[in-house]
Amino acid sequence: SIVLSTLKEADHENRVALSPAVVSRMVKDGYQVLVEKSSGEAAYFSDQAYTDAGAKVVDRDTAISDANVIAVIDRPDDATLAKLKSGQVLIGLLSSLIDPDKMEQLAKQKVTALSFELLPRTISRAQSMDVLSSQASVAGYKAALVAADDFTRYMPMMITAAGTAKPAKVLVLGTGVAGLQAIGTAKRLGAEVSGYDVRPASKGEVESLGAKFLTSSVSAAGAGGYARQLSAEEQQKQQEELAGFIKQNDIIITTAQVPGRKPPLLVPETSVKEASAGTIFVDLAASDLGGNVAGSKPSEIITTDNGARIIGAQDMASQLPTAASEMYAKNVQTVIKSIVKDDALNIDTDDDVLSELVATHDGEIISDRLRKALN
Ligand code: NAD
Repeated sequence: SIVLSTLKEADHENRVALSPAVVSRMVKDGYQVLVEKSSGEAAYFSDQAYTDAGAKVVDRDTAISDANVIAVIDRPDDATLAKLKSGQVLIGLLSSLIDPDKMEQLAKQKVTALSFELLPRTISRAQSMDVLSSQASVAGYKAALVAADDFTRYMPMMITAAGTAKPAKVLVLGTGVAGLQAIGTAKRLGAEVSGYDVRPASKGEVESLGAKFLTSSVSAAGAGGYARQLSAEEQQKQQEELAGFIKQNDIIITTAQVPGRKPPLLVPETSVKEASAGTIFVDLAASDLGGNVAGSKPSEIITTDNGARIIGAQDMASQLPTAASEMYAKNVQTVIKSIVKDDALNIDTDDDVLSELVATHDGEIISDRLRKALN
């Protein structure tokens, strides 16, 4: 039978790729499951919970060497990658487009790498494998809570004997999966919420959550349901248009991404400087390459001279690790079902989902997007 394993993630990552619930399901389906010791600790899944679910808790080397399929959250370190053998399958958020040469190395080792960033988003069969959506949804929810927690006023309107507090005004820039979840969460906390995106299609989704949609004069729907990158002129126009909206809000949550590109700058330094004291910016796109908000730093909170706070919220899904891991593990389970037939690995690279999700197989680069990133 197929041996499935998961590894303990790096210290900064609280999530784990397999949950006890999914292990239990997989064991019932005839898989053997190996779990590296303490893998689930930061998500509050004990080794005992995995053992009870039917897994064997093992050391790292065994979890690497004895598995046919290894599921991870983030790409493991180079020393671990080097240990992978021909025919083994590695599934995770491997940052294949950011570091394509690592995938080339895995191809040379004849490892089959499935990298979730490559999953096609618009094929409905892929929805239950869509880690980007499940994790973005967790991140959007947590971003709204983090904003509320750092905000020094109420989110809802409060009518009390000691006076009335106005509801907080929340603006969400980028209303994809994370942005919509942030909108829903801020609405449930009682804030007055508006959303903004360059994809006109998102208007209906924002309005269905009871939020106001701020129509962008820049329209930038791209391929595969994603936004395209804006030209320099469009970006300038957008920043000017947004500056007015930003000033009118107390909390600005930004989530804008363009696949394979550095995140667009939506809040330039001038807008940060114009913000009133106490304004909270939560930048879900914060990265080492820069984010949506000028000056944001991943996993750091910065207080500006004018008293605004910029929260670099790169790791929000990891900050809700139990829920995030449970969903991730379900996505992994669906992927594994799609590559196993009659108790054996069967990777059909002509399949419409796998032809994109599979980065490397049998010594070859399979994904077209990855091949382009390598050229
Ligand atoms: P994403 O993380 O790539 O980007 C987040 C949002 O930022 C997007 O809504 C994008 O339009 C927006 N954005 C990009 N540049 C911008 C700019 N300059 N200004 C303002 N906003 C900007 O997106 P995502 O959340 O992964 O979703 C991508 C698309 O995939 C969406 O259309 C989503 O509805 C779709 N999707 C479809 C399915 C499905 O049908 N199965 C599943 C998941 C996602």
